[in-house]
Amino acid sequence: MDSLLKSLIDRLEEKHTLSPDEYAFLIRNRSAEAMEYITPKAQRIRRQYYGNSVYVRGLIEFTNLCRNNCLYCGIRRSNSSCSRYRLTKEQILECCDTGYDLGFRTYVLQGGEDAFFDDTYLCEIVSAIKTRYPDCAVTLSAGERSRDSYRRLFDAGADRYLLRHETADRHHYEKLHPAEMSFDNRMRCLYDLKEIGYQTGCGFMVGSPYQTPETLASDLAFIDRFSPDMCGIGPFIPHRDTPFKDCSAGTLEETLWLLSIIRLMLPHVLLPATTALGTIHPLGREKGILAGANVVMPNLSPVSVRKKYELYDNKICTGDEAAECRNCLTRRMEAIGYRIVTDRGDVNRKQSSLNGKCEAAL
Ligand code: SAH
Repeated sequence: MDSLLKSLIDRLEEKHTLSPDEYAFLIRNRSAEAMEYITPKAQRIRRQYYGNSVYVRGLIEFTNLCRNNCLYCGIRRSNSSCSRYRLTKEQILECCDTGYDLGFRTYVLQGGEDAFFDDTYLCEIVSAIKTRYPDCAVTLSAGERSRDSYRRLFDAGADRYLLRHETADRHHYEKLHPAEMSFDNRMRCLYDLKEIGYQTGCGFMVGSPYQTPETLASDLAFIDRFSPDMCGIGPFIPHRDTPFKDCSAGTLEETLWLLSIIRLMLPHVLLPATTALGTIHPLGREKGILAGANVVMPNLSPVSVRKKYELYDNKICTGDEAAECRNCLTRRMEAIGYRIVTDRGDVNRKQSSLNGKCEAAL
């Protein structure tokens, strides 16, 4: 293996940071051999912080109405073939009830940017969940809102917020989004969320149209600077009713490579093995965990709406009941030596010496 590549991986493992040029070098020089070199390092760090626990999040896709028109997304405003739905507060609470019995202690409310869920209604939903399940964390993934809105939702009890930055390169951002959307606003949102006190998540799609090693290097440099608590990355997958329908999907190999790099960069980070990764490869999520991920997000949405929340083609698990998804993932994780835990699964910014010892015994 290239000696420079090896020394950069060693330095990333030790110092947890590289320059943008060095990140670009890592991205350009991925190889099977380099992957074999980085994987055990990513696994070791992951075990030091999280042992062999895998955190689960119950994903509730509460609305597929969206005022935005992101060029890659299947629920974009101008997709007239998309059959639209929104869940009521009661339906969302029912999903939480089901989830609680299945051992979920984090609910992720994800949706399009739907004005029907104004601050008053969304705060009501968040506080109803927190009242019923005070031992659970609520994560919101409801797009760009005002600082005041983020503050109110936080005060209503929301613990975490996921807002992928999508790309840290302004020009690339403008190729993925219509002119009415703004890179600066997305970044503003992320900094507001962090300042307000949310456990904050950013992230990007791997292999999105017009992505280059340089734009990916700016993603890594941004993540390095921002030091998020969570980082959602998964392959881009085309959706038949979007302008990017003929673009190719991101690859398993590149996604795994980036997961391992991010684990070395941010040892503490909550890093999901995403549904998109499970969609491009039957063992994608298992491979994601083995590359350094520590979170999975099975679907808790009512089966009747699952197929309608289609961000990309052929999304998996759209026909299964929540219990089936949960059991399936339990088996999949056990098969690779990991275990799903009944826990809120908060970020752990301190290395656990106990886990370090466990690791030595393994
Ligand atoms: N409206 C919310 C939630 C968006 S959906 C928000 O703006 O944050 C969650 C994520 O799915 C997006 O951030 C995007 O990165 C990802 N996504 C959308 N379309 C996709 C596609 N075609 N392939 C893979 N991931 C996609």
